[in-house]
Amino acid sequence: MYRLLFFIITALIIGVGLACEEDTPPRLPDIVWEGEKIRYGTTDNILPPAGTFARFEKVVSDIEIELGVSIPEGKKIDYYYLGAYIDDWREFCKSGHEKVIPGCTKYDGRVFSFYEDTISVHELIHAVMFITIGTSHSLLSEGFAVYFSDRSFFLDDDENDSAQDRIDRIENAMFANAVSADVDYESAGYFVGYLINEYGLEATLELYRQATQSSTKQDLNRILVELTGDSLETIFSNMVADMPQCHVEYVGYYSDLVPWNEKQWHYIYEISYDSNDVYADDIVSFHDGFLTVSSLFEIESDGGYLVTITMSPLDIGYTEPYITRCNEIYITSEGAYSAFIVNDERINWDIVGDEITDTYLFTFAVGTYELMIPISYYPDINDFFSASDFVEVTIVKTE
Ligand SMILES: [Zn+2]
Repeated sequence: MYRLLFFIITALIIGVGLACEEDTPPRLPDIVWEGEKIRYGTTDNILPPAGTFARFEKVVSDIEIELGVSIPEGKKIDYYYLGAYIDDWREFCKSGHEKVIPGCTKYDGRVFSFYEDTISVHELIHAVMFITIGTSHSLLSEGFAVYFSDRSFFLDDDENDSAQDRIDRIENAMFANAVSADVDYESAGYFVGYLINEYGLEATLELYRQATQSSTKQDLNRILVELTGDSLETIFSNMVADMPQCHVEYVGYYSDLVPWNEKQWHYIYEISYDSNDVYADDIVSFHDGFLTVSSLFEIESDGGYLVTITMSPLDIGYTEPYITRCNEIYITSEGAYSAFIVNDERINWDIVGDEITDTYLFTFAVGTYELMIPISYYPDINDFFSASDFVEVTIVKTE
Protein backbone atom coordinates (compact mmCIF):
# COMPACT_ATOMS: atom_id res chain seq x y z
CA MET A 1 0.00 0.00 0.00
CA TYR A 2 2.78 2.42 0.83
CA ARG A 3 4.60 1.68 -2.38
CA LEU A 4 1.43 2.49 -4.22
CA LEU A 5 1.06 5.76 -2.35
CA PHE A 6 4.67 6.51 -3.16
CA PHE A 7 3.85 6.56 -6.85
CA ILE A 8 0.43 8.16 -6.56
CA ILE A 9 1.60 11.07 -4.50
CA THR A 10 4.86 11.78 -6.29
CA ALA A 11 2.95 14.31 -8.37
CA LEU A 12 2.26 16.37 -5.28
CA ILE A 13 5.00 18.91 -4.73
CA ILE A 14 5.12 21.07 -1.66
CA GLY A 15 5.11 24.79 -2.32
CA VAL A 16 8.16 26.28 -0.71
CA GLY A 17 8.26 29.11 1.71
CA LEU A 18 5.59 30.96 3.58
CA ALA A 19 5.66 34.70 3.58
CA CYS A 20 7.30 34.80 6.98
CA GLU A 21 10.32 32.73 6.01
CA GLU A 22 13.38 34.82 5.39
CA ASP A 23 15.60 32.08 4.00
CA THR A 24 15.13 30.50 0.63
CA PRO A 25 15.17 26.79 1.25
CA PRO A 26 16.72 24.29 -1.15
CA ARG A 27 14.48 21.95 -3.12
CA LEU A 28 12.13 19.82 -1.03
CA PRO A 29 11.40 16.20 -1.81
CA ASP A 30 7.88 15.13 -2.74
CA ILE A 31 5.33 14.15 -0.13
CA VAL A 32 5.06 10.37 -0.38
CA TRP A 33 2.84 9.55 2.58
CA GLU A 34 -0.07 11.36 4.16
CA GLY A 35 -1.84 10.53 7.41
CA GLU A 36 -4.29 12.41 9.60
CA LYS A 37 -1.77 14.74 11.18
CA ILE A 38 1.46 14.23 9.25
CA ARG A 39 2.57 14.43 5.65
CA TYR A 40 5.92 12.80 4.96
CA GLY A 41 8.51 13.56 2.33
CA THR A 42 11.86 11.84 2.06
CA THR A 43 15.02 11.83 0.01
CA ASP A 44 15.23 8.07 0.61
CA ASN A 45 14.01 5.85 -2.16
CA ILE A 46 12.55 3.28 0.17
CA LEU A 47 9.85 3.94 2.72
CA PRO A 48 9.95 2.35 6.16
CA PRO A 49 7.14 -0.10 6.99
CA ALA A 50 3.61 0.83 8.03
CA GLY A 51 4.20 0.72 11.77
CA THR A 52 6.61 3.65 11.44
CA PHE A 53 3.82 5.86 10.12
CA ALA A 54 1.35 4.59 12.71
CA ARG A 55 3.87 5.78 15.30
CA PHE A 56 4.23 9.18 13.67
CA GLU A 57 0.50 9.71 14.12
CA LYS A 58 0.54 8.36 17.67
CA VAL A 59 3.43 10.62 18.69
CA VAL A 60 1.54 13.72 17.54
CA SER A 61 -1.70 12.62 19.24
CA ASP A 62 0.18 11.87 22.45
CA ILE A 63 1.85 15.30 22.42
CA GLU A 64 -1.53 16.98 21.87
CA ILE A 65 -3.01 15.06 24.80
CA GLU A 66 -0.02 15.63 27.06
CA LEU A 67 0.00 19.38 26.41
CA GLY A 68 -3.79 19.76 26.19
CA VAL A 69 -3.69 21.34 22.73
CA SER A 70 -5.05 20.35 19.33
CA ILE A 71 -3.84 21.06 15.86
CA PRO A 72 -6.60 22.84 13.91
CA GLU A 73 -8.67 20.65 11.61
CA GLY A 74 -7.10 20.34 8.18
CA LYS A 75 -3.65 21.52 9.31
CA LYS A 76 -0.91 18.92 8.94
CA ILE A 77 2.73 18.80 9.91
CA ASP A 78 4.98 18.41 6.87
CA TYR A 79 7.83 16.20 8.00
CA TYR A 80 10.81 15.86 5.67
CA TYR A 81 13.61 13.39 6.08
CA LEU A 82 16.48 14.98 4.17
CA GLY A 83 19.35 12.53 4.34
CA ALA A 84 20.29 13.04 0.70
CA TYR A 85 20.42 16.86 0.62
CA ILE A 86 21.87 17.08 4.06
CA ASP A 87 24.44 19.83 3.51
CA ASP A 88 22.05 22.32 1.93
CA TRP A 89 19.42 21.73 4.56
CA ARG A 90 21.83 21.89 7.45
CA GLU A 91 22.84 25.31 6.25
CA PHE A 92 19.17 26.31 5.99
CA CYS A 93 18.42 25.04 9.49
CA LYS A 94 21.48 26.57 11.11
CA SER A 95 20.16 30.11 10.68
CA GLY A 96 23.41 31.75 11.65
CA HIS A 97 24.71 29.62 14.48
CA GLU A 98 27.60 27.24 14.31
CA LYS A 99 26.56 23.97 15.90
CA VAL A 100 26.01 20.87 13.81
CA ILE A 101 22.33 20.14 14.26
CA PRO A 102 20.23 17.06 13.52
CA GLY A 103 17.18 18.93 12.30
CA CYS A 104 14.97 21.95 12.76
CA THR A 105 11.37 23.01 12.84
CA LYS A 106 10.15 26.19 11.19
CA TYR A 107 7.49 28.33 12.85
CA ASP A 108 4.87 27.18 10.35
CA GLY A 109 5.32 23.65 11.70
CA ARG A 110 7.45 22.14 8.91
CA VAL A 111 10.04 19.70 10.22
CA PHE A 112 13.37 19.17 8.46
CA SER A 113 15.07 16.14 9.89
CA PHE A 114 18.52 14.56 9.50
CA TYR A 115 18.13 12.59 12.71
CA GLU A 116 19.07 8.93 12.82
CA ASP A 117 15.87 8.31 14.76
CA THR A 118 13.21 7.72 12.17
CA ILE A 119 10.79 9.84 14.16
CA SER A 120 12.14 12.93 15.86
CA VAL A 121 9.80 13.42 18.79
CA HIS A 122 11.83 16.51 19.70
CA GLU A 123 11.04 18.29 16.42
CA LEU A 124 7.42 17.13 16.49
CA ILE A 125 6.98 18.77 19.90
CA HIS A 126 8.26 22.04 18.42
CA ALA A 127 5.89 21.62 15.46
CA VAL A 128 2.82 20.98 17.64
CA MET A 129 3.66 23.88 19.98
CA PHE A 130 4.43 26.34 17.17
CA ILE A 131 1.17 25.48 15.42
CA THR A 132 -1.08 25.46 18.48
CA ILE A 133 0.52 27.97 20.89
CA GLY A 134 3.19 29.86 18.97
CA THR A 135 6.84 30.58 19.56
CA SER A 136 8.56 31.40 22.84
CA HIS A 137 11.96 32.03 24.39
CA SER A 138 14.29 29.31 23.13
CA LEU A 139 15.04 28.18 26.69
CA LEU A 140 11.37 27.23 26.95
CA SER A 141 10.80 25.88 23.45
CA GLU A 142 13.93 23.70 23.70
CA GLY A 143 13.10 22.85 27.30
CA PHE A 144 9.67 21.54 26.38
CA ALA A 145 11.06 19.60 23.43
CA VAL A 146 13.80 18.00 25.53
CA TYR A 147 11.63 17.29 28.55
CA PHE A 148 8.82 15.65 26.60
CA SER A 149 11.00 13.72 24.18
CA ASP A 150 13.94 12.10 25.87
CA ARG A 151 14.08 13.65 29.34
CA SER A 152 17.69 12.82 29.18
CA PHE A 153 20.01 14.45 31.67
CA PHE A 154 23.73 14.08 32.12
CA LEU A 155 23.95 16.62 34.84
CA ASP A 156 26.37 14.73 36.98
CA ASP A 157 28.78 13.72 34.22
CA ASP A 158 31.34 16.24 35.40
CA GLU A 159 32.28 15.56 38.98
CA ASN A 160 33.61 19.08 39.30
CA ASP A 161 30.27 20.54 38.27
CA SER A 162 29.25 22.26 41.50
CA ALA A 163 25.77 23.49 42.34
CA GLN A 164 26.91 27.00 41.46
CA ASP A 165 28.28 25.74 38.12
CA ARG A 166 24.87 24.31 37.32
CA ILE A 167 23.09 27.52 38.21
CA ASP A 168 25.55 29.41 36.02
CA ARG A 169 25.05 26.94 33.19
CA ILE A 170 21.30 27.38 33.18
CA GLU A 171 21.53 31.13 33.53
CA ASN A 172 23.95 31.25 30.63
CA ALA A 173 21.57 29.08 28.65
CA MET A 174 18.83 31.55 29.37
CA PHE A 175 20.89 34.37 27.96
CA ALA A 176 21.87 32.57 24.81
CA ASN A 177 19.75 35.30 23.22
CA ALA A 178 17.16 33.16 21.52
CA VAL A 179 19.48 31.33 19.14
CA SER A 180 18.18 27.93 20.02
CA ALA A 181 21.25 25.87 19.19
CA ASP A 182 23.19 27.88 21.75
CA VAL A 183 20.88 26.89 24.56
CA ASP A 184 22.13 24.15 26.83
CA TYR A 185 19.43 21.64 25.94
CA GLU A 186 19.78 19.39 28.96
CA SER A 187 19.59 22.29 31.40
CA ALA A 188 16.65 23.74 29.50
CA GLY A 189 14.88 20.35 29.64
CA TYR A 190 15.54 20.02 33.31
CA PHE A 191 14.35 23.60 33.97
CA VAL A 192 11.03 22.97 32.20
CA GLY A 193 10.62 19.59 33.90
CA TYR A 194 11.26 21.16 37.26
CA LEU A 195 8.70 23.93 36.64
CA ILE A 196 6.09 21.36 35.56
CA ASN A 197 6.65 19.16 38.59
CA GLU A 198 6.75 22.08 41.01
CA TYR A 199 4.13 24.49 39.63
CA GLY A 200 2.11 22.38 37.18
CA LEU A 201 1.87 22.11 33.42
CA GLU A 202 -0.64 24.97 33.10
CA ALA A 203 1.63 27.54 34.75
CA THR A 204 4.61 26.34 32.71
CA LEU A 205 2.62 26.56 29.48
CA GLU A 206 1.50 30.04 30.49
CA LEU A 207 5.16 31.02 30.92
CA TYR A 208 5.80 29.64 27.42
CA ARG A 209 2.89 31.71 26.07
CA GLN A 210 3.92 34.94 27.74
CA ALA A 211 7.65 34.72 27.07
CA THR A 212 8.96 35.76 23.68
CA GLN A 213 12.14 35.06 21.77
CA SER A 214 13.57 38.34 22.99
CA SER A 215 12.49 38.11 26.65
CA THR A 216 15.23 39.15 29.05
CA LYS A 217 16.04 37.62 32.40
CA GLN A 218 14.04 40.42 34.05
CA ASP A 219 11.03 39.67 31.82
CA LEU A 220 11.13 35.97 32.66
CA ASN A 221 11.56 36.71 36.35
CA ARG A 222 8.54 39.05 36.33
CA ILE A 223 6.35 36.47 34.55
CA LEU A 224 7.50 33.70 36.90
CA VAL A 225 6.77 35.77 40.01
CA GLU A 226 3.28 36.53 38.68
CA LEU A 227 2.58 32.91 37.84
CA THR A 228 4.24 31.08 40.72
CA GLY A 229 5.00 33.62 43.47
CA ASP A 230 8.67 32.57 43.29
CA SER A 231 11.58 34.43 41.76
CA LEU A 232 13.99 32.94 39.24
CA GLU A 233 16.69 33.03 41.88
CA THR A 234 14.60 30.95 44.31
CA ILE A 235 13.59 28.53 41.57
CA PHE A 236 17.19 28.06 40.44
CA SER A 237 18.53 27.32 43.88
CA ASN A 238 15.69 24.90 44.75
CA MET A 239 16.02 23.20 41.40
CA VAL A 240 19.76 22.69 41.66
CA ALA A 241 19.32 21.16 45.11
CA ASP A 242 16.87 18.63 43.58
CA MET A 243 18.79 17.67 40.45
CA PRO A 244 19.13 13.95 39.75
CA GLN A 245 22.55 12.50 40.39
CA CYS A 246 22.54 10.04 37.54
CA HIS A 247 21.64 9.65 33.93
CA VAL A 248 17.89 9.43 33.52
CA GLU A 249 16.52 8.49 30.16
CA TYR A 250 12.90 8.79 29.19
CA VAL A 251 11.44 6.67 26.46
CA GLY A 252 7.82 7.12 25.67
CA TYR A 253 5.22 7.65 23.03
CA TYR A 254 6.17 4.93 20.63
CA SER A 255 4.30 1.85 21.72
CA ASP A 256 0.83 0.68 22.64
CA LEU A 257 0.04 -0.69 26.08
CA VAL A 258 -0.88 -4.36 25.82
CA PRO A 259 -2.94 -5.60 28.81
CA TRP A 260 -2.38 -8.84 30.69
CA ASN A 261 -4.62 -11.79 30.03
CA GLU A 262 -5.14 -13.27 33.50
CA LYS A 263 -1.67 -14.37 34.65
CA GLN A 264 0.01 -14.13 31.29
CA TRP A 265 1.13 -11.26 29.10
CA HIS A 266 1.04 -12.35 25.50
CA TYR A 267 1.44 -10.65 22.14
CA ILE A 268 2.06 -11.91 18.62
CA TYR A 269 3.67 -9.37 16.31
CA GLU A 270 2.84 -9.78 12.63
CA ILE A 271 6.03 -9.29 10.64
CA SER A 272 5.21 -7.80 7.26
CA TYR A 273 5.63 -4.55 5.42
CA ASP A 274 2.01 -3.50 5.93
CA SER A 275 1.88 -4.49 9.59
CA ASN A 276 1.52 -1.70 12.15
CA ASP A 277 3.56 -3.90 14.48
CA VAL A 278 6.81 -3.29 12.63
CA TYR A 279 8.62 0.02 12.44
CA ALA A 280 11.96 1.50 11.58
CA ASP A 281 13.30 2.96 14.81
CA ASP A 282 16.44 4.33 13.30
CA ILE A 283 17.14 5.33 9.68
CA VAL A 284 20.73 4.05 9.63
CA SER A 285 19.79 0.72 11.18
CA PHE A 286 16.87 0.48 8.77
CA HIS A 287 19.25 0.82 5.84
CA ASP A 288 21.45 -1.81 7.47
CA GLY A 289 18.53 -4.18 7.71
CA PHE A 290 17.09 -3.65 11.18
CA LEU A 291 13.49 -3.04 12.17
CA THR A 292 11.79 -3.07 15.54
CA VAL A 293 8.70 -4.39 17.28
CA SER A 294 7.72 -3.05 20.68
CA SER A 295 4.97 -2.83 23.29
CA LEU A 296 4.35 -1.42 26.71
CA PHE A 297 3.38 -3.70 29.59
CA GLU A 298 2.57 -3.05 33.22
CA ILE A 299 3.97 -4.86 36.22
CA GLU A 300 1.65 -4.87 39.22
CA SER A 301 3.79 -6.81 41.68
CA ASP A 302 7.54 -6.98 42.25
CA GLY A 303 9.36 -10.21 41.46
CA GLY A 304 10.90 -12.53 38.89
CA TYR A 305 9.32 -12.85 35.45
CA LEU A 306 10.03 -15.25 32.60
CA VAL A 307 10.10 -13.53 29.22
CA THR A 308 9.86 -15.97 26.32
CA ILE A 309 10.38 -14.84 22.74
CA THR A 310 9.59 -17.17 19.86
CA MET A 311 10.33 -16.20 16.30
CA SER A 312 9.87 -17.78 12.92
CA PRO A 313 11.45 -18.37 10.50
CA LEU A 314 15.19 -18.57 11.02
CA ASP A 315 16.14 -16.41 8.07
CA ILE A 316 14.85 -13.39 9.91
CA GLY A 317 17.64 -12.33 12.18
CA TYR A 318 17.18 -11.39 15.77
CA THR A 319 19.02 -9.74 18.61
CA GLU A 320 18.23 -9.80 22.26
CA PRO A 321 15.40 -7.69 23.63
CA TYR A 322 15.65 -4.32 25.33
CA ILE A 323 13.40 -3.71 28.26
CA THR A 324 12.96 -0.12 29.30
CA ARG A 325 11.31 1.25 32.35
CA CYS A 326 8.98 3.58 30.55
CA ASN A 327 9.07 7.19 31.67
CA GLU A 328 12.10 6.65 33.85
CA ILE A 329 15.13 4.68 32.78
CA TYR A 330 16.72 2.36 30.34
CA ILE A 331 17.36 -1.14 31.51
CA THR A 332 18.87 -3.55 29.08
CA SER A 333 20.42 -6.92 29.37
CA GLU A 334 23.70 -5.04 29.04
CA GLY A 335 22.85 -3.20 32.25
CA ALA A 336 24.29 0.02 30.94
CA TYR A 337 23.14 2.31 33.71
CA SER A 338 24.35 0.82 36.91
CA ALA A 339 22.20 2.81 39.30
CA PHE A 340 19.07 1.36 37.77
CA ILE A 341 19.92 -2.14 36.62
CA VAL A 342 17.16 -4.66 36.82
CA ASN A 343 18.89 -7.99 36.77
CA ASP A 344 18.19 -10.33 33.96
CA GLU A 345 19.57 -13.65 32.91
CA ARG A 346 19.28 -15.49 29.61
CA ILE A 347 18.21 -18.94 30.65
CA ASN A 348 17.50 -20.66 27.38
CA TRP A 349 18.15 -20.24 23.68
CA ASP A 350 16.84 -22.92 21.36
CA ILE A 351 16.16 -23.71 17.72
CA VAL A 352 13.40 -26.24 17.14
CA GLY A 353 12.38 -26.79 13.52
CA ASP A 354 12.37 -23.33 12.00
CA GLU A 355 11.64 -21.51 15.24
CA ILE A 356 13.96 -19.72 17.62
CA THR A 357 12.93 -19.65 21.26
CA ASP A 358 14.72 -17.38 23.67
CA THR A 359 13.93 -17.18 27.38
CA TYR A 360 15.03 -14.61 29.95
CA LEU A 361 14.49 -14.17 33.64
CA PHE A 362 13.90 -10.53 34.54
CA THR A 363 13.40 -8.98 37.95
CA PHE A 364 10.79 -6.25 37.67
CA ALA A 365 9.50 -3.72 40.16
CA VAL A 366 6.01 -2.28 39.89
CA GLY A 367 5.79 0.06 36.91
CA THR A 368 5.32 0.39 33.18
CA TYR A 369 7.94 -1.06 30.88
CA GLU A 370 8.66 -0.97 27.20
CA LEU A 371 9.78 -4.14 25.46
CA MET A 372 11.70 -3.57 22.22
CA ILE A 373 12.95 -6.35 19.97
CA PRO A 374 15.20 -5.49 17.04
CA ILE A 375 14.67 -7.84 14.09
CA SER A 376 16.56 -8.06 10.87
CA TYR A 377 15.50 -8.59 7.28
CA TYR A 378 19.02 -9.34 6.19
CA PRO A 379 20.07 -10.30 3.55
CA ASP A 380 17.29 -8.87 1.38
CA ILE A 381 14.71 -6.29 2.30
CA ASN A 382 12.35 -7.73 -0.31
CA ASP A 383 12.37 -11.08 1.45
CA PHE A 384 11.36 -9.33 4.60
CA PHE A 385 8.61 -7.35 2.99
CA SER A 386 7.11 -10.32 1.24
CA ALA A 387 7.28 -12.54 4.31
CA SER A 388 4.45 -12.99 6.74
CA ASP A 389 6.22 -14.14 9.85
CA PHE A 390 5.79 -13.56 13.54
CA VAL A 391 7.45 -12.75 16.82
CA GLU A 392 5.55 -14.06 19.83
CA VAL A 393 6.24 -12.89 23.38
CA THR A 394 4.89 -14.23 26.63
CA ILE A 395 5.62 -12.96 30.12
CA VAL A 396 4.69 -14.91 33.26
CA LYS A 397 5.56 -14.42 36.90
CA THR A 398 7.87 -17.13 38.23
CA GLU A 399 6.22 -17.84 41.58
ZN1 LIG B 1 14.83 21.92 19.39
